[in-house]
Amino acid sequence: MVKTEKPKKARPAPEKIIPHVPEMDATKKRVHPRFVTGKYQNIRLISMYAILIGFLILPWLRWNDRQAILFDVIEPKFYIFGATFMPQDFYFFAFVFIIAAMLLFMVTVYAGRVWCGYACPQTIYVHLYQHVEKWIIGDRNKRMKFDKAPWTAGKIIKFIAIHSIWGVFSAITALTFIALVVGTDYLFFNGATPFFMGWGKMTWIFFLLITFVTQTNGGYMREHMCVHICPYGRFQSVMFDKDTLIVSYDYERGEPRGARKKNAPADTMGDCVDCSMCVQVCPTGIDIRDGLQVECIQCAACIDACNDIMDKVGYPRGLIRYTTERQLVEKQKTKILSPRIFAYIFVLGACIVAATLVATGRAPLEMEIRHDRKQLSTVGRDGLVENSYVLKIVNKTDERQVYKVRLEPVEGLSLRSRFEKLPLQANEPYDLPVSVFGDPAKIQPGHTPITITVYTENGEYSASADDIFIFDKKDKK
Ligand code: SF4
Ligand code: SF4
Repeated sequence: MVKTEKPKKARPAPEKIIPHVPEMDATKKRVHPRFVTGKYQNIRLISMYAILIGFLILPWLRWNDRQAILFDVIEPKFYIFGATFMPQDFYFFAFVFIIAAMLLFMVTVYAGRVWCGYACPQTIYVHLYQHVEKWIIGDRNKRMKFDKAPWTAGKIIKFIAIHSIWGVFSAITALTFIALVVGTDYLFFNGATPFFMGWGKMTWIFFLLITFVTQTNGGYMREHMCVHICPYGRFQSVMFDKDTLIVSYDYERGEPRGARKKNAPADTMGDCVDCSMCVQVCPTGIDIRDGLQVECIQCAACIDACNDIMDKVGYPRGLIRYTTERQLVEKQKTKILSPRIFAYIFVLGACIVAATLVATGRAPLEMEIRHDRKQLSTVGRDGLVENSYVLKIVNKTDERQVYKVRLEPVEGLSLRSRFEKLPLQANEPYDLPVSVFGDPAKIQPGHTPITITVYTENGEYSASADDIFIFDKKDKK
């Protein structure tokens, strides 16, 4: 007698995919994802490790015999390849941050949390540290058993081995960060043997702090960081719309789910064989079949795992896939162009133009005048009235420059500087005292506007600033 399958009741498909925020439990057990291979995981591996290697080599890049990228917070000056940024240039970084934020928003509107899944440092380090666990203990089931196992000598040795390797990665990360701030020369080639004996107290504090934070994040915080702490994960739901690319389970195709005999009639069961592989590979431990959740970092591990299962059971791939709500639920074509995207493009374009203007308009020479406030005006033995100033000069080029100073002509006034020529190294600031002398027979009492100009010996650059010359009535004989 032929036994027929009783049709299973399909789970109701959600009316809307976005957003589904399940109850989150920060105390839940550690997630031990099964490692999976596939198209998306290959892309992730290339992207994540390219970013990691790029970060590690950053402090070792050189430009004109100097560290190419150095955020010297003591001076403070930021060197980025050929450009030098001083505190007064930091508004340029405000534009850079706005551009980065706008880019991230735009990418999120189109491609969802692609940053989280493919490029976020948290994802990269968690992936790396889980690889170490897998290498020493084994894949998911062995790691879950290891967690529950009593503390035997074998478990202690593996525990120490894992934490030591994590520690090495964490220390290398801390050294890379610190080298971008204090420079590789100070950090590694300071003359001390071993090199870390030459570090100051603050270097040690930051080294230990960053190592600890990296170890805790990659080793323990893991998905909790994405779910409970990272603000980006939280506000993504307001940025998603019906046309945002998301990792989704196809309810209509998959339900009713369940194990089935091979070649079971198609009308009794959906394509999901309820193997739970999509759950086992998920680094945040969620079931994508429950709908899009705030924990989903869109790593696409569930897509690769499910495609693998579909291949094995002989069903078409794509039961879990990248799609949009408009496509999956409303069965319409995804709309690429929307007023929101034009608004993002407009703001992004404006920021890029502003940042370019700021970057290209940076003056190669900076000069300010400070009038001596203690003694605004004095009269010398020769009867001349003297006003003293300090010229704050900064050579903002990458080359040594020789400067001269002049007073723009005013009848009865002349300028004397301590130096006839002022040589300044690349990016060197200098406070130059100068005096302006007035002949009382030729100038009027009161305030006379003056302009002082600093210029390069070869006449290439100049900078001027205005102030006043003070001639007090009582100084007039
Ligand atoms: S991997 Fe695919 S077939 Fe297996 S439970 Fe998940 S959705 Fe169903
Ligand atoms: S649900 Fe899928 S895409 Fe989302 S985090 Fe889990 S494995 Fe990655």
